[in-house]
Amino acid sequence: MTVEAKADAVNSRETFDKYSPVDGRKLGTYTITPPDGVDAAVARARKAAPKWRDLSLDERFSYLERLREIIRRDGERYAQIISEDTGKPLVDSLMTELMSIPLFIEYYEKEAPKALKRRRLMPQLLFPGKASYVEYFPKGVVGIISPWNFPFQLAVVPMISALIGGNTVVLKPSEVTPMTGELIDDVFEEAGFPPGVVEVIQGDGSTGAALTEADIDMIFFTGSVATGRKVMAAAAKKPIPVELELGGKDAMIVCEDANLERAARAAVWGGFINCGQMCISVERLFVVEPIYDEFVELVRREVKKLRVGAPDEGSDMGPLTFSGQMGIVARHVENARKEGATIAVGGEPMEGPGQFFEPTLVLDVTTDMEIYREETFGPVLPVIKVADAEEAIQKTNDHKFGLTGSVWTGDRQKGIELASRMESGQCSVNDLVVSVGNPALPFGGVKQSGFGRYHAHEGLYAFMHQKAIMAAPDLLDVEPFWFPYAAKYPTVLKTFKGLLGGSMVTALKGFYRMLRMTQTRAGTKGTEE
Ligand code: NAD
Repeated sequence: MTVEAKADAVNSRETFDKYSPVDGRKLGTYTITPPDGVDAAVARARKAAPKWRDLSLDERFSYLERLREIIRRDGERYAQIISEDTGKPLVDSLMTELMSIPLFIEYYEKEAPKALKRRRLMPQLLFPGKASYVEYFPKGVVGIISPWNFPFQLAVVPMISALIGGNTVVLKPSEVTPMTGELIDDVFEEAGFPPGVVEVIQGDGSTGAALTEADIDMIFFTGSVATGRKVMAAAAKKPIPVELELGGKDAMIVCEDANLERAARAAVWGGFINCGQMCISVERLFVVEPIYDEFVELVRREVKKLRVGAPDEGSDMGPLTFSGQMGIVARHVENARKEGATIAVGGEPMEGPGQFFEPTLVLDVTTDMEIYREETFGPVLPVIKVADAEEAIQKTNDHKFGLTGSVWTGDRQKGIELASRMESGQCSVNDLVVSVGNPALPFGGVKQSGFGRYHAHEGLYAFMHQKAIMAAPDLLDVEPFWFPYAAKYPTVLKTFKGLLGGSMVTALKGFYRMLRMTQTRAGTKGTEE
């Protein structure tokens, strides 16, 4: 097949089917937005942009308040849709998908007026009489491309952050969770946002690629490293700014002075929440040698207690949302077994319909194993025995990912120091995962986990251009640094040396000498004293 024919074959795919991760039932058929549909959505967003930008912050928040009210009123029904789409427990749909939206709206209602207002800076000695300001203006039309693991939250939080700043948004949700994509479209429509301010385009990777090629001003991408590279390459062609929120292989370091009961329960929650399909789930559990046996026993006990099942069965853990994950998870576990790891609990896909995999505890994991080096994104908790916290932090940092992590110790100061040394975007002490839900903390990765930050004030700035303004009085006809240069060189040299030699007095003297030399009516020649 020629390249053109292959492209036609991809483009001729007009719909895709959605199947239940719980029992394999077909749940619906969705239309793939073709490239001209993507362009049309972006054109509508562009048309809507000036009016949306020119609204006051209060006016923009009035729409977000309606959104918050709708989520509060109908959240229970939305949780059911998200759980049917993803297979995750209802508790997770409410707690990790929906609850964060009102929290972020409330936080930004308080903080955005402060964060986005024009700021006057401290006067600078060498710019006497001149006022310096920093202000912000929206980037314009923002393309947001989101993944399937938290399909509501990971789309809506960047959406509201962009909208608050006065941007319009085109969202391309994941094709793995189209029911939630449709839900997001409905919720924003019900909140009454003006036409074009929020556009949702369903589709697969081809739709995402078309969005990156369309007439947008920024891309905010959450997903895999492989797709992130393609998105960045597309952004580079224009070029437009891009923020990448990519994968992780988060470390949890358990020191011998930790509360072991708490740490063991945390490891199991952090490793198996959302069936381990979380960029910030625990994927490397480092345990120091003196407490290794005792701690692993506690973890084993907790893993065995997990209830696996459908969302309406009160389960702790559901199926894998994306069928493609089954193969990856099984391969990582199998390869680890072959390479000498011990499968202490689970290790196999579960029988029956649906994409269920046993909660799996893997011991004796070493740094050369695939299960250690690559993101698994499934219900697997790999444990690594280390001599001490020092070895753990070195191993943690010797990795391509750096998203979040955690340190567990009875000594808070030691914990903060270790957290500080972890090469990651976030790190918790005696806690995990929940820091991502704290709207006041910036979130994002380092290394291959991506770059850029959102949440907190940074989450507004991510979607804003910064503008510097300097305003001078118009009293002087000419400034000291302007033409004519003749006769100024010795004075400039003195000022330069004064500045570099750390003598502000000499520098200022030179500066005022230059001022006197040039402070003549326009058209007259500068004179030296
Ligand atoms: P993915 O990269 O397969 O897909 C993400 C989105 O990109 C989807 O909407 C997809 O349709 C779209 N896409 C695919 N090809 C594209 C292309 N060529 N151009 C533009 N868009 C394209 O990722 P996924 O499987 O949906 O998500 C899982 C990954 O996301 C994991 O690696 C996980 O760690 C990561 N993730 C990161 C964060 C974070 O905050 N850092 C959060 C959640 C998930």
